Amino acid sequence: MRILYVEDNPANISLLQRVARMGGHEVLYYNEGEKALENFASDNPDLILMDLQLAGKMGGLDVVRKLRSDGVSKPIVAVTAYAMMGDKERCLEAGCDAYLSKPLPVAELVEMVSMYQEKVNAAAAAATASAPTPEKPAVTTAPEKNNRCARCRSEAGSCS
Ligand code: MN
Repeated sequence: MRILYVEDNPANISLLQRVARMGGHEVLYYNEGEKALENFASDNPDLILMDLQLAGKMGGLDVVRKLRSDGVSKPIVAVTAYAMMGDKERCLEAGCDAYLSKPLPVAELVEMVSMYQEKVNAAAAAATASAPTPEKPAVTTAPEKNNRCARCRSEAGSCS
């Protein structure tokens, strides 16, 4: 799957890249929320990781609020250095699905990424199952063979 990581600390980006590579995931990253928003539609990520304090003017939660108000329903995990009381609640209120505190816990990160991958797989399977199946062509029954002699109407081969 494709993971978007909005983060201004290169060490955290390379950590996520290592974790993602193990699972065969692609990572896109921006150090500013503005750039992430600008490219969001074309990036079309399956999972978003959002640092709270970014290089640009927007904070991570401003970016989350903007995405949610634009109708984006993709999972967003907030990643933050501050371990302040009420921080988790602020993240959830802004529209995040989950919260990880830095330094990034590698085992939790691996588990989380694979959990979201399973959700992506399940959604893809559901989409396939509900897709209309192409109509089968009507079975045309072959006309019965006329085994009778056209002349005497007896079984073919029995007349001379
Ligand atoms: Mn930061």
